[in-house]
Amino acid sequence: AWILHNDTLIQEEELAISKEDRGYQFGDGIYEVIRIYEGNLFTAKEHIDRFYASAEKIKIVIPYTKDVLHKLLYDLVEQNEINNGQVYVQITRGDAMRQHHFPQETSPVMVAYTKTVERPKEMMEAGVHGTFIEDMRWLRCDIKSLNLLGNVMAKQEAHEAGSYEAILHRGEVVTEGSSSNMYGIKNGILYTHPATNLILNGITRSVILDLCRNLGIEVQETAFTKEQALEMDEFFMSSTTAEIMPIVRIDGQEIGNGSPGEATRKLQQAFEANLKLTVKM
Ligand code: PLP
Repeated sequence: AWILHNDTLIQEEELAISKEDRGYQFGDGIYEVIRIYEGNLFTAKEHIDRFYASAEKIKIVIPYTKDVLHKLLYDLVEQNEINNGQVYVQITRGDAMRQHHFPQETSPVMVAYTKTVERPKEMMEAGVHGTFIEDMRWLRCDIKSLNLLGNVMAKQEAHEAGSYEAILHRGEVVTEGSSSNMYGIKNGILYTHPATNLILNGITRSVILDLCRNLGIEVQETAFTKEQALEMDEFFMSSTTAEIMPIVRIDGQEIGNGSPGEATRKLQQAFEANLKLTVKM
C-alpha cells in the first residue's frame, strides 16, 4: 500500500524510521484518526485543525499548510482506493540524539496510512458494556498526544473485564473514555464533560452537540459522577471509529432498561443522515 512520508507518497516497504525518532523514544508527537466514508474524509477540516492545534501545544511546527496536508491525505486515500475506512496521521518531533529537551534543529517526521474499516453496525445496534477505571493520565488530555500509555492501560483493564470501553473517572467525576467521549441522558437532557484540559475535545463530540441543537435536545456540558452515570436513563460514547455507541451496562449494572435509549437512537439516525448529506457519493 501507499503511505505518506512527510510530503511524499511511498510504498510502505520503503519507510525507514530512525531508532532515535522522538516519537518512538518519548511519544513526542501527535496524531489524528480521520474516518473515510465513500472515499471522502469525514470532518477533515476539523481533524486537520485539531492536528495543527495539538502540534502547536507541544511546539511542533508542521512544515506544510493545512490545505497541502488536506490534499496529501486525499491523494493517499485515492491512491489506496479506500472506500470505507480511516486514515491515521502522526507527526513526531523527529530524529535527534536521545536527550529529553528539544533538539536545536528539529525536522518533524510525518507518517500517514490508510486502512479499510467497516462501521461497527451490530454493536451500535445492540450497545456495548463499559467498565469504570480510575483516570490516571496527565493533565493535558486536550492534546492528541502519541503518549497513550494511560489510555492503553485503562483499555486493557476494561478489555480484561469483558468490556468494550473504559469509562475513566478522576475521583468521582467521569471524564471520558480511553479512546472516546462519554455522555449520559437524564430526563431528556444530555450531559457530557466540558471540553477542558481533562478530556480530548472529540470531533464526533462537536458533531453530536450540533445534532442535539438541531433535534432540540438540551445539552449541558457539565461533568457528572460515577453514581450519576449509573442513574442515567441512557448512556453512550462517541469517537471517530465507534461513532455513537450505546453503553447499556456499566460494571455489570444495567443503564435505563439495559438497551439503547430513544434519544441515543435519534442521534444515531441524525448522525447517519448527516453522513449522507456531507458525503459526496
Ligand atoms: N477521547 C480520547 C481520549 C480519544 O482518544 C478519542 C479518539 O480516539 C476521543 C475522545 C474521541 O475523539 P474523536 O471523536 O475526535 O475521534
